[in-house]
Amino acid sequence: MSAKTITRFAPSPTGWIHVGNLRTALMNYLIARKAGGEFILRIDDTDPVRSKEEYVDGIKRDLEWLGLHWDRVERQSLRMDRYEAAAEELRKMDRFYEAFETPTELDLKRKKQLNMGKPPVYDRAAMALTDAEKDALRADRGAGVWRFKLDRERIEWPDGILGDISIDAASVSDPVLIRGDGQILYTLASVVDDTDMGVTDVVRGSDHVTNTATQIQIMNALGGAVPSFAHHSLLTGPQGEALSKRLGVLALRDLRERGVKPFALLSLMSRLGSSDPVELRTDMAELIDGFDIGRFGSSPTKLDDADLMPLTARYLQTLSLEDVAAEVEAAGVPAELAAQFWDVTHDNITTLHDLAPWWKMFSEGAEPDIEPEDREFIAQAMTLLPDAPFDGQTWSNWTTAVKEATGRKGKGLFMPLRKALTGQAHGPEMASLMPLLQVLKARG
Ligand code: GLU
Repeated sequence: MSAKTITRFAPSPTGWIHVGNLRTALMNYLIARKAGGEFILRIDDTDPVRSKEEYVDGIKRDLEWLGLHWDRVERQSLRMDRYEAAAEELRKMDRFYEAFETPTELDLKRKKQLNMGKPPVYDRAAMALTDAEKDALRADRGAGVWRFKLDRERIEWPDGILGDISIDAASVSDPVLIRGDGQILYTLASVVDDTDMGVTDVVRGSDHVTNTATQIQIMNALGGAVPSFAHHSLLTGPQGEALSKRLGVLALRDLRERGVKPFALLSLMSRLGSSDPVELRTDMAELIDGFDIGRFGSSPTKLDDADLMPLTARYLQTLSLEDVAAEVEAAGVPAELAAQFWDVTHDNITTLHDLAPWWKMFSEGAEPDIEPEDREFIAQAMTLLPDAPFDGQTWSNWTTAVKEATGRKGKGLFMPLRKALTGQAHGPEMASLMPLLQVLKARG
């Protein structure tokens, strides 16, 4: 009787998605794939003003880039009649009431309650209105909002991450499900969708815990099956600071532009905040296999985006020239040198953006770094530089000749030569680097 696992990622297309959204998307994706189930991309576009098509496209592009392929797309804006029908059902069963307070009035009520040491829960004053009073308010203020009447009992569920949750519904205001202008709100739309689409598992951020409590009651009222819920912890910066200030930097499209690779991101985000170690994975099947929602903890998860760089570098080391041929070509490397170039550079880059500077160095030469005491030595060494073309033997032939002529050896011999030719104290093996420098020589 175990139903097919169905999960969904449900972004609102009101902005670019960021690492926090990725965490939600990834967890839902991995759960579906691990169970051989279905992963739905649900576009929560009930807000016609803030939802933008360019964000829908951007979200799809980001997910595709990451390789998080969805089985189908659903759009809330196309399902309004379903939400209206659910609202009608709630009205019929007396779980829905119209309320007319202005935001200022509600604010005043909350302040009074707080002053009296009471929780700021909506007092249900609207439920006492007579039809005539409602008509008068409607004529005066326009249509009211529609609130769902919560059963004032404890709402409980075994959370996949937080453990057993118990929330007293009496401490929560009856949620507004339809705005005064008729706009259906996410809380209702999401319940209807999860039920209609047979969603079995919902993973989302812990900022949704109270939502979950009210949604469970709405689901029960409408006779829908309640999915399993898991709420992941908040992501913070490395010092525990709110990530929101840095969201601009951590939008997926920005990370992509900085050269971060999908598997670096996926490897980090599928483990960060869990008791399993972060390990670089280069295969989706391994990520799926190694994922366990039960290993995640409830405390805030610190994310340092700098960690994405070494993971990206290590990922690049696993690639062959075929995988990066386009980027190597874009860096200006001629086809006949591409293999050699990748061989020499792939261990010495953090992102593929580093390829162009390497090629510039090989093709145009670097600003030499020569210590004053080495000036004469370098001048003498340069006179001994073999003629082009350079090959795998050039470095050893050259340094042997320089050693014989100058008596220098070891680091005192090799380091000044490396710095003079490359401008850097570190980098690829000089023996394999020299053949690429023939371009410099040939261009004379
Ligand atoms: N659109 C909602 C959000 O972005 C979805 C929450 C949910 O997963 O139900 O927060």
